[in-house]
Amino acid sequence: MSRNDRENTSARPKDKVILGKRTGIWNRGGMPTPVRIEVTQFPGGKRLAVTTSFDDGVIHDRRVVRAFNEWGLKGTFNLNSGGLLRTGKPAPDTSRHIDASEVAELYRGHEVAVHTVSHPWLEKLDNAQIADEVLRDRCALEDLVGYPVRGMAYPFGTYNDRVIAVLRQLGIVYARTVENHWNCFPPREPLAWQTTAHQFTTTPEPVPQRFAELYANPRSTGLFFIWGHTYEFENRWEDLEKIFKPLAGKPDIWYCTNIELFDYEAARQRLVVAANRATVFNPSAIPVTINVAGKLRDVPPGKTISTV
Ligand SMILES: [Zn+2]
Repeated sequence: MSRNDRENTSARPKDKVILGKRTGIWNRGGMPTPVRIEVTQFPGGKRLAVTTSFDDGVIHDRRVVRAFNEWGLKGTFNLNSGGLLRTGKPAPDTSRHIDASEVAELYRGHEVAVHTVSHPWLEKLDNAQIADEVLRDRCALEDLVGYPVRGMAYPFGTYNDRVIAVLRQLGIVYARTVENHWNCFPPREPLAWQTTAHQFTTTPEPVPQRFAELYANPRSTGLFFIWGHTYEFENRWEDLEKIFKPLAGKPDIWYCTNIELFDYEAARQRLVVAANRATVFNPSAIPVTINVAGKLRDVPPGKTISTV
């Protein structure tokens, strides 16, 4: 239908075409044109998120956490509760693992997640042992940190469909693999979650170059997710700053732990936009950001706001 045809049609009073006052969009029937409401992918409408993940609970975590706290980066630390020392005081610098008594304070502001009690190849165990390795690690870590532990990274990065089926019964929200994907969030299967890259990747290029290219493109969106082991920095600590500091301090990036991504995504999915788009209800416990005809607004937890 050409523009002229449409204008001719508008001559019929019942089917009148008017100019929507608010958005300037052509609309039929004399009703005001509803605004377009988008639920932004990340809080505050930030276009990118950066998260990290480190395994095994080793003493090198201390140095990485200290640097991240200074730079404003967030990490998820996947711990084997069976590997932690139990002396009641900080582990000596000669120790491989940290002491259980350090966990709450060391990782404050970051996330502690499951890595199983004893670091087995889960796919080699029967279902009961898989459940035991995960649940006992959860309980032990929860005793230390004082909040529900819901994330996980697979020991050795290995799993199969049977392992996933067991985890599904244990309250595990996501399980990180060592596989990579350019678009890693939200994952199709949260219990087989892929990352952007290992911290020392060289293909297609090292992390700093990869991030610089992504960030330089103003249309880039999504998650940049780097994982590794902090002990890999042994004898090459200068790389910590080279790799991670460039990711920090950007106003249009959300720095979050792994579980914060999933909690925000769940809250986003629960947001209720009225059919007439005049109100939005947030039934979740965290603020969710919406874009109302180009303007960002936060919908507070448990509240209904008016968009008009
Ligand atoms: Zn491990």
